[in-house]
Amino acid sequence: MALSKLDSLYRAVILDHSSHPHHKGKLDGVTPLKLNNPTCGDIIFLSLRINDQGIIKNIAFDGSGCSISTASASMMTDAILEKTVAEALKFSEKFSKLVQGEKVEKAEEMLGDASFLNGVSKFPQRIKCATLAWNALKKAIILKK
Ligand code: ZN
Repeated sequence: MALSKLDSLYRAVILDHSSHPHHKGKLDGVTPLKLNNPTCGDIIFLSLRINDQGIIKNIAFDGSGCSISTASASMMTDAILEKTVAEALKFSEKFSKLVQGEKVEKAEEMLGDASFLNGVSKFPQRIKCATLAWNALKKAIILKK
């Protein structure tokens, strides 16, 4: 994707996550949830491990996608690790609002680097790239319940 056009995004942070994604890979013994974004061609395989207290103890993603989808997945894994599934679902909802241009209180506190993707709201065709990982997270949590 043409990152040069995204001058209002926090390009350095996004580039860092997309070129060196955090929690990339698979988890042993976990069948990943697959989700794709046909409009861009992004594919994600998300693996989660949730303990008996409902805390996300481990997470990994794999797949291929544009810079925004990869960066968003990396940021999402950072934001929700060691959080409860209830918090993770709430964060997913907040993130979705954020990238659609809605004001979200304490976005950075909750979402960390993922809050830097708020500029995506100016590029409607990229919203699905940004929300792919978060939608995969929601589905993976629901499947485990
Ligand atoms: Zn994409």
